[in-house]
Amino acid sequence: MSIDVLPTPQIMPPEVAGRIVARSHWLRTLGLALGSVMVGTVFYRHAVPIQMWVLLVLHGLAWPQVAWLILRRSNRPVADDRRFFLGDAAMGGAWIALMQFNLLPTVLLVTMYAITLVAIGGFRYLAHGFALLAIACGVASVANGLSFAPDTGMPELLASLPLLVVFPVSLGLITHKLAHQVRAQNRQLLRLGSLDALSGLLNRKHWEDAVNAILARHCCDNAVMLLIDIDRFKHINDQFGHTVGDEVIRQVGAIIRGSLREGDLAGRYGGDEFGVVLCNANLPAAAAVAERIRSGVAELTVEKAPQLRCTLSIGLAHSADATGNTRDWIEQADAALYRAKLAGRNRLVVAA
Ligand code: GH3
Ligand code: MG
Repeated sequence: MSIDVLPTPQIMPPEVAGRIVARSHWLRTLGLALGSVMVGTVFYRHAVPIQMWVLLVLHGLAWPQVAWLILRRSNRPVADDRRFFLGDAAMGGAWIALMQFNLLPTVLLVTMYAITLVAIGGFRYLAHGFALLAIACGVASVANGLSFAPDTGMPELLASLPLLVVFPVSLGLITHKLAHQVRAQNRQLLRLGSLDALSGLLNRKHWEDAVNAILARHCCDNAVMLLIDIDRFKHINDQFGHTVGDEVIRQVGAIIRGSLREGDLAGRYGGDEFGVVLCNANLPAAAAVAERIRSGVAELTVEKAPQLRCTLSIGLAHSADATGNTRDWIEQADAALYRAKLAGRNRLVVAA
């Protein structure tokens, strides 16, 4: 019988697959061990033949470790692990029949398999698992002479408690940990989505949005914008190639990042142009920061192009000149930058 397992993402980083399989190994080991104690108690009551005990020990204790060894060598561990859980569900059906449908252990096994299958693969996966569980249960019941003894005695009840309590709590813990990881990854994605990959600074849209927000909230009324442009960058590209040009952008981004305080905003405004807003800074303080950036970049070196020298032109504008409008503020800083270029580049100019 071919089992149509729900599709898993084809491209899954090995470390992610490893984490998923490690979690389910832990779950399988715990669930089958606790389940075996319960099933074994029912077997003891019915004095079942030795073969059933052997089967129970093989599935309950040995199988999780064998599965773990197989999954660690598998090329598609997550898909294989899902198949294994379907096999576990089928075995659960067999145990139910061999326990002669002892009521509490039966209900418990069905419930625990349902929780596990839904948690792993949703309702379609649950339907697959339960179809297999029902088939295996039917076959095992026939093989066991359709024995039926649903009464649950005190020993079986007590032996069911660890599975009843420990397993759902463990699954809850795993779910909690997963939710925590998902939240952290969402934050990371949001952060990565707002960053320019080359410079590591905000991309233009997010930088402008952040500047808009600062102006709208008046939370940074004493602020200075720097518009920074690499001098003759086309020439750097032409002379040393785009890879070196990219490395220059990367290093300029790092130097800008290293010159800022908490709350300042830096973004890549265009190809070789960067925007920075320094919060709670007057013009002299901002000019000192801009000068640090300019002199830092003047000293940068690129391994592949040792003779390369890079300079910056920087235009500065105070927020008071911006009439509360980001466009105006950028235009003020851009006009100052233009004057820096006209005046011979490699310098700072403050908006008039
Ligand atoms: P100026 O001193 O007047 O600024 O001269 P410039 O050569 O720097 O002129 P401009 O600022 O117009 O040139 C920007 C160049 O940056 C043009 C474009 O090919 C290059 N560029 C834009 N984005 C990238 C990038 O991501 N990587 C590389 N290597 N080059 C880029
Ligand atoms: Mg330029």
